[in-house]
Amino acid sequence: MAKTIIIGGGIVGLMNAYKLMKKNHQVTVIDKSNITDGASFGNAGLVSPFEEPPLSRPGIISQTLKLMLKGESPLIINGVSKKLLTWLWLFAKNATEQRVEKTLILFEKYGHITMECYEELANEFDFDFHHDGVVMIYTDLEDFEKDIKECENHPHKEAWDFEKTKKVAPCINDKVVGSIYLDRNARLNPKLLMENLVTFLKSKGVEFIYNTRILNFEYKNGKAVKAFSKDRDFEADNFIISTGSDTSLSKKCGNDLMLIPAKGYSITFKMDDSLKPKIALLFKDQFIGFIPRNDSVRLTSKLEIGSYKEGYDAKSFQSIIDTLKPFVVDFKMNEPSYWSGFRPLTPNDIPLFGRDKRYSNIIHANGLGWLGITFAPAVADIVSDLIDKNLKNEQSDDVLLFSGFYQGC
Ligand SMILES: Cc1cc2nc3c(=O)[nH]c(=O)nc-3n(C[C@H](O)[C@H](O)[C@H](O)COP(=O)(O)OP(=O)(O)OC[C@H]3O[C@@H](n4cnc5c(N)ncnc54)[C@H](O)[C@@H]3O)c2cc1C
Repeated sequence: MAKTIIIGGGIVGLMNAYKLMKKNHQVTVIDKSNITDGASFGNAGLVSPFEEPPLSRPGIISQTLKLMLKGESPLIINGVSKKLLTWLWLFAKNATEQRVEKTLILFEKYGHITMECYEELANEFDFDFHHDGVVMIYTDLEDFEKDIKECENHPHKEAWDFEKTKKVAPCINDKVVGSIYLDRNARLNPKLLMENLVTFLKSKGVEFIYNTRILNFEYKNGKAVKAFSKDRDFEADNFIISTGSDTSLSKKCGNDLMLIPAKGYSITFKMDDSLKPKIALLFKDQFIGFIPRNDSVRLTSKLEIGSYKEGYDAKSFQSIIDTLKPFVVDFKMNEPSYWSGFRPLTPNDIPLFGRDKRYSNIIHANGLGWLGITFAPAVADIVSDLIDKNLKNEQSDDVLLFSGFYQGC
């Protein structure tokens, strides 16, 4: 039986383990941490492949500058490097109608694969999965009036007035002008998903090795023969690198992936049930997610690029609360817990995956940005097929269509 080592046990690594396990492969997941925290745990948990455009889109730059001037911009740029400047240039270059249209078609195609996978997993274990849509909340009338035009005759977008919005979002106040309901997206509790997926994979024979940072590979005849940490070697037939925003290992094998860490924050708390949102809310103008879960709610926001610094300060969380406050009634945030993490963000929201150009048994699976929970199952489906069927990148239509190695900037 072929053996695959997956380096990085975030959602992308675990989904790859799941898909390979189902294809009867022998799988080991190695992680530098004990897989209890990180980007895949503290995020909003939206499974939102449908009807939401990529970050890089026409108008994004003027819109962000407008918010920056008002002091409300979720985007913060810290420091400058050559890579960041290249990334920003590619981001701007991709903000075209044509690219957005293409990306939405890809999101639609691969979104269905993802949704099927989560429906399947929900039969195996609980992760607070609800396929009940997302409500985009508007606080700017001009924006709302412009966007509701797209709802006319759209099968999956419905414009709601304030009263209808208030029924699912009892916490909003009358500064909200209305909302657009996207009925095909879903939500889940990412921590529960990660914890229960690890347990499930272990029960199916997947091996986990914790607290082990892979430093590099040893190569022979154009292939990696082993991966090594500071004190151990690991041999396998295939190696998947799914290390999220930490791209140092990919760089070591000569592939400096065009992605940057984009820091985001979340606050998880309990609140009065009568004010708790009934489905996931996205305050569109404020870039704030407000997501109900069985036992709590989670606020998420911010996109800080250019900084690799972990941790957080109280100011960042306060600014999220201050940005939301004008649009909600007063409510108490009970037992709050605070978190920050990094999205592995490509300039055009297209993930980077497929076989390494130089070492054919190294497969990259990265760059899922703000959509890692959303597209991890679809990317894992494609990557596990490459391994299972021993395909080259060029023999997989899905790699050619959906990987940034081919649909790049
Ligand atoms: C505030 C916020 C909100 C978000 N909301 C959503 C959302 O609603 N929906 C959505 O789809 N996405 C969302 N995301 C994005 C999503 O969280 C990420 O895309 C996803 O978690 C990335 O998963 P990953 O497996 O690529 O990386 P990670 O989860 O970062 O996993 C990488 C793993 O690799 C390990 N590792 C790194 N280097 C090594 C090495 N050399 N050796 C061994 N191990 C290594 C790390 O320890 C880590 O466990 C959000 C992100 C943030 C920050």
